Amino acid sequence: MRKHGHIKGLALSTLVSALCLAGTAGATVTEEDLLNDQDTTGDVVTNGMGLQGQRYSPLDAINPDTVKKMHPVWAFSFGGEKQRGQESQPMVKDGVMYVTASYSRVFAIDVKTGDELWQYDARLPDGIMPCCDVINRGVALYDDLVIFGTLDAKLVALNKDTGKTVWKKTVADYKAGYSITAAPTVIKGKVITGISGGEFGVVGKVVAYDAKTGKIAWMRPTVEGHMGYVYEDGKEIENGISGGEAGKTWPGDLWKTGGAAPWLTQTYDPDTDLLFVGTGNPAPWNSHMRPGDNLFSSSRLALDPDDGKIVWHFQTTPHDGWDYDGVNELISFDYEENGKTVKAAGTADRNGYFYVLNRENGEFIRGFPFVDKITWSTGLDENGRPIYNEASRPGDPSAGEDGNKGNTVVAAPAFLGGKNWMPMSYSKDTGLFYVPSNEWQMDIWNEPIAYKQGAAYLGAGFTIHPTNEDYIGVLRAMDPITGKEVWRYTNYAPLWGGTMNTAGNLVFFGTPEGYLKALDAKTGELKYEFNTGSGIVGTPITWEMDGEQYVAVASGWGGAVPLWGGEVAKRVKHLNQGGSIWAFKVPKD
Ligand code: CA
Ligand code: CA
Repeated sequence: MRKHGHIKGLALSTLVSALCLAGTAGATVTEEDLLNDQDTTGDVVTNGMGLQGQRYSPLDAINPDTVKKMHPVWAFSFGGEKQRGQESQPMVKDGVMYVTASYSRVFAIDVKTGDELWQYDARLPDGIMPCCDVINRGVALYDDLVIFGTLDAKLVALNKDTGKTVWKKTVADYKAGYSITAAPTVIKGKVITGISGGEFGVVGKVVAYDAKTGKIAWMRPTVEGHMGYVYEDGKEIENGISGGEAGKTWPGDLWKTGGAAPWLTQTYDPDTDLLFVGTGNPAPWNSHMRPGDNLFSSSRLALDPDDGKIVWHFQTTPHDGWDYDGVNELISFDYEENGKTVKAAGTADRNGYFYVLNRENGEFIRGFPFVDKITWSTGLDENGRPIYNEASRPGDPSAGEDGNKGNTVVAAPAFLGGKNWMPMSYSKDTGLFYVPSNEWQMDIWNEPIAYKQGAAYLGAGFTIHPTNEDYIGVLRAMDPITGKEVWRYTNYAPLWGGTMNTAGNLVFFGTPEGYLKALDAKTGELKYEFNTGSGIVGTPITWEMDGEQYVAVASGWGGAVPLWGGEVAKRVKHLNQGGSIWAFKVPKD
């Protein structure tokens, strides 16, 4: 028996070393890896560098003293004749980087050498309708799968070693204006995705699939009145989990094409077991057609990750008339007050206000502006509801002389938002949020519109203008307790990439001018910059390998600004496109 056991032991250790020799073949991403991502510095396996989305790394080898020695290790081209915006956050696991690129492409790269391991190109149909560039924001990793969403609204799971398709699901109909650009999230074995398409009158929804098999698990619409479902073996087992009363906060039939697209990656808080989802504008933009709050548009929703039930909701812009999508990430953080721990969450909205909510129940704790100019409202009431400035709401076209155009108003922020998609980060060390924001305003007016499947459904026209001559972008360090801006770093072009911060007291981010920059997290002082050759609209990550700290960021100018930016687009039209991913480190010496 003893001998037999010994042989068994030998066989096991031989197997283990064989797996090690095979490099990455044995390692998969577990539930544990996802839950612990923030603290495990050898890998980055979640979008957000942790499910709560704080984008904070405990690594400190790269700090204000050493960062001047940081230099590129390799750069990898995404290739292709078509480039456009590169908004991906890369992932790193066991020596392999997984990064998406424009036009629904995925690359696996050896992080030591920068060599390509495999490439996957989604075959996109001609009729895709991405509103805001052909971007993709990253993958989800689970088990031996690399999962991502495509511009034709499919969810695709690839084998991590070969790049071959394991399963593929149609989440929604691209011909009706649906697409997917956000990275999915995996919670408790389910891969969860939202959809884009708020500018086409889609019905927003969040859908969960069994991550291993791709079988649908639940579906939760984000427009009040639509029913949600739980599935077993592809069949509805629980019919009609109510999403509220049809027509209650919407007039007539408008809820049927109400938008509220949840088009960004969700965050998850294991503490409360809640999935936090942001929803986009109500459709159409012309608010005079849809009196009422138009739930659950421009809101944050807390969902039960097991069945998609809405546990609480907080609407940042009820009856939105300015395209103030409420999609922005809700980042969990704790703070002490009167000897008690407050389980809070922070979010910076397109509408220009920063909100601190109780993440257990969605109650409003406080809110404050994080941009210099807000005209559409004069403040927030004690429940966090905006106090509207009706003079800043674009006019009703049917009230005009010919019925074709309502009054034009000047509104700030512009519809591209005080903050748009680009994720902010939170530091446990400084207690500050690092918010990529922009100072701009717009002329906006309403026009008549009727819903037609697969056509733009705005009922509005607009031109965006910079508010200041010398800068649009402002990276702000915001204190969520006092509501004060602690420091700011201004940038000529609008900021369109995310931030990441470290225990090394640095905040990393990129600019459309091409620079990867590192600022002192306490003071905002510039400590490092390197030009990557095209604009950065992606989000940096950091990890350690062989005892050295690395940083990586995607480079490639594009996104919504050149397409929708009006006068701002003219200001940045000289910026060149690209498509690459850069890796940096500080050598051990
Ligand atoms: Ca990790
Ligand atoms: Ca929108």
